Amino acid sequence: MNELKGESRMARKELSPITPEVVALPRRPVRPDGRRNLVGLTRDRLAEALAAIGTPERQLRMRVGQLWQWIYQKGVRDFAAMTNLAKDYRAKLAENFVIAVPEIVSRQVSADGTRKYLLRVAGGHEIETVYIPEADRGTVCVSSQVGCTLTCSFCHTGTQKLVRNLTAGEIVGQVMVVRDDLGEWPKPGRHPKDETRLVSNIVLMGMGEPLYNFENVRDAMKIAMDHEGISLSRRRITLSTSGVVPMIERAGAEIGCMLAISFHATTDEVRDRLVPINRKWNIATLLEALRQYPRLSNSERVTFEYVMLKGINDSDEDARRLVKLISGIPAKINLIPFNPWPGAPYERSEQDRIRAFADIIYKAGYASPIRTPRGEDIMAACGQLKSATERARKRRAEIEAEAGLAGE
Ligand code: SAH
Ligand code: SF4
Repeated sequence: MNELKGESRMARKELSPITPEVVALPRRPVRPDGRRNLVGLTRDRLAEALAAIGTPERQLRMRVGQLWQWIYQKGVRDFAAMTNLAKDYRAKLAENFVIAVPEIVSRQVSADGTRKYLLRVAGGHEIETVYIPEADRGTVCVSSQVGCTLTCSFCHTGTQKLVRNLTAGEIVGQVMVVRDDLGEWPKPGRHPKDETRLVSNIVLMGMGEPLYNFENVRDAMKIAMDHEGISLSRRRITLSTSGVVPMIERAGAEIGCMLAISFHATTDEVRDRLVPINRKWNIATLLEALRQYPRLSNSERVTFEYVMLKGINDSDEDARRLVKLISGIPAKINLIPFNPWPGAPYERSEQDRIRAFADIIYKAGYASPIRTPRGEDIMAACGQLKSATERARKRRAEIEAEAGLAGE
């Protein structure tokens, strides 16, 4: 019965546009009081901002390094606490700048320790960030947009219409908020190893399509990887994309992090319905782009994410086709049991089915872990994110007025 429901929704989907009508808003760079947020500025932008308040040219590099260490390594939000800077310089910084991260609206903690944060960003928009503790790592699942312009039919975020790109500060700020909440700002002079950190990994798998917000995601991840920033190895950062093919090469060249692809189907016919961007860049085009992705090797494999939908994409034949399609690409396949959400048109595949599917892939020589859903009791699992407080649709003018953009 439910499968039929899924099919009829899929049939309707065929007619829907790849991107629904969305409100894409620019973001005000300066706060109402005229002070600028330093979080998320690249080294160059920060140097420019410091030069503009009269910092001597020859000091710029050093000042940028010092500020980054206070902001990203020590978690300091108050310029007055930056004891290696002269007092009058600290006062000048405070007059002109702020160090601001998204505000926590609410936090839920799952029985399994997963934490889901509802965060408020400029303009009153809300996003979700998830922290997933595991035995050997702690992962922050970061959002890249408010909502998503794409409309994958199994994804809750895809049903949310209000969209704007997050700034680099709002993206790296999510990691900082989680560190605040976990109380994890290392003592000065201590450099804990990545694997012993509470926040040891970042996945760009929250709300939004990161490759449709490329520059901001890149700048944020550069800060996450920098030795004076959050200083996580690029191998501990994974960017997940639904397959924005022209940007994949740039991601390799300009970010250099690990890549995950939301693959989910083995024929264009089915993928067109599940991941509508497939109608723009189909399976063959996507796989060709992956074959060109730099540095792919047995130790740096691309992850294929595959959501298991009962009766839709989970047959033995699908598993065999999948193996054939990706042959020659160093890869692992992450099988994600479908996480339901209210009104979702699909059902999760049975556990035995998932195991049989995994087995075929494994026997063909690929790692095929089945992802344990985390934080299900608080709707924090993959694809369940969508701000619960999403408001009634507003007209563009109303939203602009609210965000302080009117007249710009
Ligand atoms: N937009 C990007 C990143 C965010 S989605 C992308 O699509 O890759 C993160 C992952 O969650 C993707 O693999 C997505 O396909 C998966 N996902 C979405 N909805 C899901 C659901 N209801 N159940 C399980 N996984 C889901
Ligand atoms: Fe957007 Fe990813 Fe959800 Fe598709 S799966 S709607 S690309 S967030």
